[in-house]
Amino acid sequence: MNEPLFTPEQLAEIEAYHFPHYVWAAVGDGVNLVVCLLVLWRGVAPMFRFSEWAAAALAARWPGLRKARVPRVVLAALDRLWGGPGWGAALLFAGCDFAVGVLAFLPVDVYFGYVLEHRFGLSRYTPFTFAVDELKETAAALAPTLAVAFGLFALARRLDRWWLVLGLVAAMALLGSAALDPYRGRYYFDQRPLEEGPLRVRLTGLLRRAGVEFSDIVVEKTSRATVKVQAYFAGQGRTRAIVLNDSLLAQLEDDEVLAAVAHEAAHTRESRWPNRVAAALALLAFLFGIDRLFRRAARSGWLGTHRFADIRTLPLVALVFYLAAGVTGPVAAAFSRGRELEADAFALRLTGDPGAFRRMLVKAARVNKMDPNPPRWVVLKGWSHPPIGERLAAVDRGDWKNTDGR
Ligand SMILES: [Zn+2]
Repeated sequence: MNEPLFTPEQLAEIEAYHFPHYVWAAVGDGVNLVVCLLVLWRGVAPMFRFSEWAAAALAARWPGLRKARVPRVVLAALDRLWGGPGWGAALLFAGCDFAVGVLAFLPVDVYFGYVLEHRFGLSRYTPFTFAVDELKETAAALAPTLAVAFGLFALARRLDRWWLVLGLVAAMALLGSAALDPYRGRYYFDQRPLEEGPLRVRLTGLLRRAGVEFSDIVVEKTSRATVKVQAYFAGQGRTRAIVLNDSLLAQLEDDEVLAAVAHEAAHTRESRWPNRVAAALALLAFLFGIDRLFRRAARSGWLGTHRFADIRTLPLVALVFYLAAGVTGPVAAAFSRGRELEADAFALRLTGDPGAFRRMLVKAARVNKMDPNPPRWVVLKGWSHPPIGERLAAVDRGDWKNTDGR
C-alpha cells in the first residue's frame, strides 16, 4: 500500500550525500587521535613558552592594572583562586590549545558545514553568513572551555579531593545549563511567536492533552542557513518553548506538524534522572582518572612538568576525555534510539493518526535527505535516532497500539 520512499535517482543522490559522512565516521577518530598526539609530542613546549612570554608581556604592558581599583580586586581574586601567579599563562596556554584544535579541523568543518551541504542543495549560507555563524559558535565554545580549564586546574592545585568537589559542581552546572536551552536557538536565528490561527489552536490543544507545560510556540527562521526541516522543545516546565522552524511549516500540512510536535511532547515525559545520574557518575570516574594521571605526570616529569596539575598536561586531559567519550557515546546513542521509538509510539497514540505521522516522516526524510538504510556500524557508532526505514516499519507494524506507555 505504501509507495517506495525514494525513487532510484533520489536514493543514489542520498547515498552520494552520505558517503563522505560515512568515510569520516570511519577515519575521523583516527585523524583526531593523530592531531592530539602531534600536539602532545611537538606542540606543548612551544605553546607553553609562548604563553609565559605573552603573559609577562601583557603584565609589563599594563602595570597600572594591579593598582586600579576594580581590576586590582579581580586580579587578586584570580591569584587567590589559582594559589599564586601563573594563571595568566595557564589561560593563554588553554587558549592556544583550543585554537590549534579549531584550526586543525577547520577544513573538515567547512567541507561538511558548507561545501557538501551546498553541493546537494541543502544549504542557504553565503560564505559570509557561514563564517559569521562559525565565529559565533567558536566564541560560544571558547568561554566555557577556558572556564573549565581554569576551574579544573585551580581546584586540582589547591584541594586534595578536587575531583570530588569539581564533579559535584559540574553536575550542578549541567542541571543549570538546561535553563539556557530556550536562548541557544535565538543566539543564531530569529524567533517569532507562531501566528494565531487554526494550527496554533490545534497545537495548544494537543499539548494540553499531553500534559505539556510551555511558555510559547515559536517559529525559528533557519531558512537563511538551511532548507532542512526541524522541530524541538527548548527548556523545561513553564519556560519551555516549542520551536518549529520556518521550513517545517512551509513543507508540512497541519496534521503532519501535529505529528512532529506529538513526538517531541513524548520526550518531555521521559525521566531525566537515570541520564543525569549516569552522566554524573561517568564524570566522577573521569575526574578520578585525571587525578591519577596528574600524579603520574608529576612523578615521571611528563611534558616538562614537575608539579601536580601543571597546565601543560591539559592536552593529555583532552585526549583522555576524547577516548572516554568514544566509549560512552555509542552506549548513550543506543539508549537514545530506544527512546526515539518509544516517542514515536507515544505520538501515534496521542494523535491516533498514523497516516499523518507516516507522511511527516517521509517528508522529513525527503527534504533532509535522510539515508533510509545506513550501514549498521554507522548507526551503532553514534546515531541518536533509528534510521527512517526502521521508524516507518514500526509505524506500519502497529506496535504502538499494544504498548500502553508510561
Ligand atoms: Zn525524538
